[in-house]
Amino acid sequence: MRLLMKFGGTSVADAPCIGRVVDILEQHYNKGDEIAVVVSAQRGVTDQLIEIANGLPTSKDVSAIEPLIKTLRTRHMTTLTEAAPGFVNEIGPIIEERLQDLNNILHAVHNLRELTPRSKDYIISYGERLLAPILGAAIEQRGIPSVVMDGCEAGIVTTSQHGESTALPDCDERVRRRIGGVLKTSVPVIMGFMGCTAEGSVTTLGRSGSDYSASIIGAGIDANEIWIWTDVDGIMTSDPRVINDARVMPELSYLEVMELSYFGAKVMHPRSIEPAMRKNILVRVKNTFNPSHPGTSIVRHQKRDHRVVKALTYIEKVAAININGAQMIGRPGVAKSIFSALADREVNVMMISQGSSEANISLIVDEAHLDIAAQALAPLLSQGIVREVIQNRNVAAVAVVGSGMVGAPGTGGKIFTALGKAGVNVMMISQGSCEANISFVVRQEDGPRAVRVLHDEFHLSEAPDE
Ligand code: ADP
Ligand code: ASP
Ligand code: MG
Repeated sequence: MRLLMKFGGTSVADAPCIGRVVDILEQHYNKGDEIAVVVSAQRGVTDQLIEIANGLPTSKDVSAIEPLIKTLRTRHMTTLTEAAPGFVNEIGPIIEERLQDLNNILHAVHNLRELTPRSKDYIISYGERLLAPILGAAIEQRGIPSVVMDGCEAGIVTTSQHGESTALPDCDERVRRRIGGVLKTSVPVIMGFMGCTAEGSVTTLGRSGSDYSASIIGAGIDANEIWIWTDVDGIMTSDPRVINDARVMPELSYLEVMELSYFGAKVMHPRSIEPAMRKNILVRVKNTFNPSHPGTSIVRHQKRDHRVVKALTYIEKVAAININGAQMIGRPGVAKSIFSALADREVNVMMISQGSSEANISLIVDEAHLDIAAQALAPLLSQGIVREVIQNRNVAAVAVVGSGMVGAPGTGGKIFTALGKAGVNVMMISQGSCEANISFVVRQEDGPRAVRVLHDEFHLSEAPDE
């Protein structure tokens, strides 16, 4: 079998974790499988890099840089020494050199007092740059040949939308050329989360982007399967940190997982299904800490479940924008003006609802985009195209997902009756035309309760249909 295996941050958090990863790889390698690996940064490292990068242009001193470099050095050198003791002399200097590069760029950004999206992407790719050579060495330590590559070397060329780049359509061919041959003789270890533009500047694919890297590489090498290794047994009926009796779903469709990840199920990056789906590759989500568990298989086929609903998600980090104005009634082109203004500033609109009076359009955007969205809409106010734009950060979006909702009357009624009984006020509702999802917006403090109520209403902690 040809497998693409992706290991997330928790799966490589320290040397014992890396030991487990190499056990898994060794077992498949000895069986004769061809394996390509995509790896994330160690848990928490990308967050640390983002935090320091964001603070540099404004902070008066550079005192945070040295402690960070020291912490990263200790953590990575300890992991290397324990996971690949025979490779400290070879890989240690590579890590040191990368830490020096990182140190230099952090100082440069501070000196310039300017963090461009391009320099930020470069900085936050260092988590993967520091970790991948350690995993490569740990694989070699077991006598398995390995080649380490960054995302760009592996063939991931992207749009220049720094921080949220998308792979270009010709990636398949490039990845096949770069990795196809390597696979025959060794286990390539590819740094996830990053790619580059056609001009060669480093880009990142969005938070949790290694899942997307995995799917791009998996599609490029025509893998038989793509395995996403994480720290839970598979995709669950809801976030296990919110719902303690959430259950692993044995099988979901590409469409269902796209809906779940788009609406916040952190277990997968939202764009990571598309490349696998295009090539019809089965994606499995599995637990590095419990590898014998079958996990969740993600396939094209939509399996119906008698409960209709399969899973729920909720996202807190969203904001609502209500656009009002009687002038909007019957006036063609107002919606176009609104959405073009937002698209020009690359604001991603997650949900849309329009009142039948046409005097109101409500949108849900990522909270981080709210200020830019407000700036983008300001000219419409001054031109009199809309009368008022009201922002509300105190909202959460909940999505109810299950392909069985297609043509199953009464699901919406059941959802909103249960929420009404529980006293949860619903502020906005939207249903995807694919009918695999009904999403709605509530006050932020009601989010977890709304998910709890619906998890019980649809009996999601019970075993799914066979
Ligand atoms: P990794 O480092 O492996 O990429 P992440 O932290 O990105 O892991 O994603 C895994 C986490 O996603 C789990 O530990 C879990 O807490 C969270 N999660 C949120 N929603 C779900 C869900 N529906 N199913 C499974 N895990 C979920
Ligand atoms: N390291 C990156 C992040 O934390 C990518 C990933 O983990 O998938 O977002
Ligand atoms: Mg992740």
